[in-house]
Amino acid sequence: MSTVDKDGMLIDAKITLKRYTSIEHGNLSTVKAVVVHQTDAPTAQHTFNGYNAGGNGAHFLIAKNGDIYQTASTQKRCYHVGRLIKSKCLTLDKNSCDSAEMAVILAKSWSNQIKALDAHERQKAYPARYPVNSDALGIEIVGKHLDDTQYEAVTPAQNTSLQWLLGELYSHFSLTKADIYRHPEVSYKNPGEAKGASW
Ligand SMILES: [Zn+2]
Repeated sequence: MSTVDKDGMLIDAKITLKRYTSIEHGNLSTVKAVVVHQTDAPTAQHTFNGYNAGGNGAHFLIAKNGDIYQTASTQKRCYHVGRLIKSKCLTLDKNSCDSAEMAVILAKSWSNQIKALDAHERQKAYPARYPVNSDALGIEIVGKHLDDTQYEAVTPAQNTSLQWLLGELYSHFSLTKADIYRHPEVSYKNPGEAKGASW
């Protein structure tokens, strides 16, 4: 079992600490969910090079061979979810949406609709909405995008490491399987991202 140190880093022989403060953007005061991604890069090093420059990133990265890196503190916010979240009620159970307000939103043009849906959803508390950067950790799995609907397969070693890491995060942050999301569930992404990830 890993421990979490005072800086929000997980201490365990299975995790290499490689923190990039360049991808941390303010404090993450609560962790309610985890979003699983694929990097669209061929190696971990490609992603580390990008992290040096700052901007978007996630808290953990799992290399092709299953090596786990922690790349940001679990106490810091990373930009990994994206600007616009989807509507959870619309996806999971339309009848649970505020139907009058939803009808107004869905009558808008697509580009206005996704902005209005995002604003509407952000008024809700998790888990009524999908996770956002201010309440979720991100895990990146190394893998290239192949075309509009597919990413590279997640390797067995990556899935083994993902399952172990999620087990640790369940304990440290009192999460359950229901709090783990593939990135395309949450925001408008290539539907193949993290499709091969299993937990
Ligand atoms: Zn992603």
